[in-house]
Parts: sequence; structure tokens; C-alpha cells
Amino acid sequence: MPNFRALVLHDDSGRVASAIEDVDDSRLPPGDVTVAVEYSTLNYKDGMILRGLGRLVRTYPHVPGIDFAGTVERSESPDYKPGDKVVLTGWRVGETQWGGFSERARVRADYLVPLPEGLSARQAMAIGTAGFTAMLAVTALENRGLRAGADVLVTGAGGGLGGVAVALMAKLGHKVSASTGRSQLRDYLEGLGAAVVVDRIPADAAVRPLDRETWDGAVDAVGGATLATILSQLKYGASVAACGLAGGSDLTATVIPFLLRGVNLLGIDSVMCPQEPRFEAWRRFARDLPLDKLEAMTDEVPLSRVAELAPRILAGALRGRTVIDVRR
Ligand code: NDP
Repeated sequence: MPNFRALVLHDDSGRVASAIEDVDDSRLPPGDVTVAVEYSTLNYKDGMILRGLGRLVRTYPHVPGIDFAGTVERSESPDYKPGDKVVLTGWRVGETQWGGFSERARVRADYLVPLPEGLSARQAMAIGTAGFTAMLAVTALENRGLRAGADVLVTGAGGGLGGVAVALMAKLGHKVSASTGRSQLRDYLEGLGAAVVVDRIPADAAVRPLDRETWDGAVDAVGGATLATILSQLKYGASVAACGLAGGSDLTATVIPFLLRGVNLLGIDSVMCPQEPRFEAWRRFARDLPLDKLEAMTDEVPLSRVAELAPRILAGALRGRTVIDVRR
């Protein structure tokens, strides 16, 4: 097979540096399916990996990219044949093994999901890990009784996970309050379907044990004081799906909302999510996510621009989803 291009990270005495390099197949990890990658995306975790934060990567040289979509080139698995369109998110690909910031990737067949009918590879990556997590969060809230017409809150709404959650929940008939630190995103968030745009909950908010009963459900991408505040504002028996930590990982909540309002804190993990809910989440996108809204929240960049965008996603400065065309 001909060589291919990949964004390779090197650890230079504790400082992580990246370069686009010409790579051959012998450097790919073991796996029964080889994929010609068309698109990947820039996620918050990729930003951390590109900057060498959080000790997520232990072995260098490394190719990041925690998700990708493309076409099967070679397969030793009965489940996939050359020409099949596939999607991958999670399983620590892009962390413990080389990932999607590359024209070619090799993985275990059971890490892959067939590209759902009605979605292109680009649309699947506009969804990507962040959008997939938003779908798991919405499904978890529904499994706890969320019904159409509910008052729901989405935090970090200007980001990727938040944007997909806003569009999805609006389409499902909920009244969505979108929380953002960027007031200039009002029109954008209303365009995605938000009924109301509200300010961010300040990181140093003094959290009251119980506040006014406000939300039937919430998708939280921020964590920290934001998550503690949401817990205090849930209606009786309502749930928050905790997805992220863009605003911090410490949780200083009290047990009072659990004891006096029977609220639920639902942890959402997209990485090791089992196959059946994983397949079902992808099937739901073609049905439940308005694809025009998905397009409106998506920017596309070539692989050559990824490294320069890493600090911006960590600073919460990117809007919506950033798709990477790895062939450019
Ligand atoms: P983005 O960077 O696209 O969005 C995060 C958003 O959070 C920002 O756009 C910003 O929104 C808000 N934000 C950023 N910094 C702060 C801060 N200091 N305080 C409050 N709000 C802040 O990231 P993603 O949407 O891709 O991911 C969101 C979170 O979810 C991350 O922590 C990520 O690691 C996590 N995640 C978890 C997954 C899981 O499996 N559980 C999977 C995927 C992501 P605004 O400006 O609108 O306020």
C-alpha cells in the first residue's frame, strides 16, 4: 500500500510538538480493518492531547484524532468488506493507539459502526464524538422519564456537544434554554432551536443547596459549579446528564437535592459505551437530528490547520463542531 499523510506528535523533552509526516503501513497499530479516513474532527480531548495535557497519551510518536469516518480499504473481519462506509468514536483510539488525524487508520472491527443510511461521512463527523455524547445524554434523560415539551437546559451551548444537544432537543419538542458565555452567539443558538439564551453560570457561583425548581432535565458540558447549580435547580425527580468538564472537574454539591427532590445525576461516557446503545444512537441521528442545523454549526478545516486550533478549543473559543478533511 502506498504511504499516507498523518499528523504525528513527538515528545521533545516534555514538550509536545506536531508535524505532518509521510508514514507507511508498518507503523499502524494491529487491527483487522484498515480504513481510508476521509474526515476526523477536533474535540476538546484532541485539544488536550495536541498540547500534551492530562497525560492522556503515554507513548510517542503518536497520531491523535479520537474519531473518524471513511471507507474500508482492507478487512480480515466478516463484518466489513472493502468499500464499506464506517464511523469510529471512542475506545481510546487517538489516545492509546494511533487515531484519525491520518489518511489511513487500522482498528479492531468491533470498534467500528457502519455509517448509518442517510448520513454522509462528513455529516457523521460533524456529529463526531461530541454529538454522539449529546445523543447518549438525551437518551439517558428520556430513559429517566423526559418527555416532549420539557423545560431543559444545555450548558456550554456554544461548543460542539452543546450545539448538537440544543438542535436535537429542540427537534424533539423541548423548550431549550441554551447557556453560553458568549452573548454574540444568541442568533446562532436561536437558529439551532434554542427558545431562550441564558448567561453562563459563573465558575465562582455560591451554590445554594436548593434553588427554585426550574429544569425538567439538563445536558451539562461544563461541570464544576455549573453542575452543582443545575442539581439545585432541577424539578422534583428530574435528571442532569453530566457529560463534560470544560469549566472544571471539582464537584462541590450537597446531598440535599438528592434527598429532598429525588434528583438524578447521570454520568455519560461515550468512550467505552457498549455496542448496542452505540449502534442505536447512530441510527437515531439520521431520524432525529435536523441536518440543516448540523451544517449551520459545522466548520471545516484541512489537516494542516489542526495544530493551530488546539489552544482555541481549550479556551472555549471555537463555535460548534470543527470537521477536519484529512485529505487536505
Ligand atoms: P467545546 O470546546 O466545543 O465546548 C465546550 C464549551 O464549554 C465552550 O464552547 C464554552 O461554551 C464552554 N466553556 C469552555 N470553557 C468554559 C469555562 N471555563 N467555564 C464555563 N464554560 C466553559 O467542547 P465539546 O463540546 O467537544 O466538549 C465539551 C465537554 O464535554 C469537554 O469537557 C469534553 O471533554 C467533554 N466530552 C465528554 C465526553 C464523554 O464521553 N463524556 C465526550 C465528548 C466530550 P460557551 O462559550 O457557549 O459558554
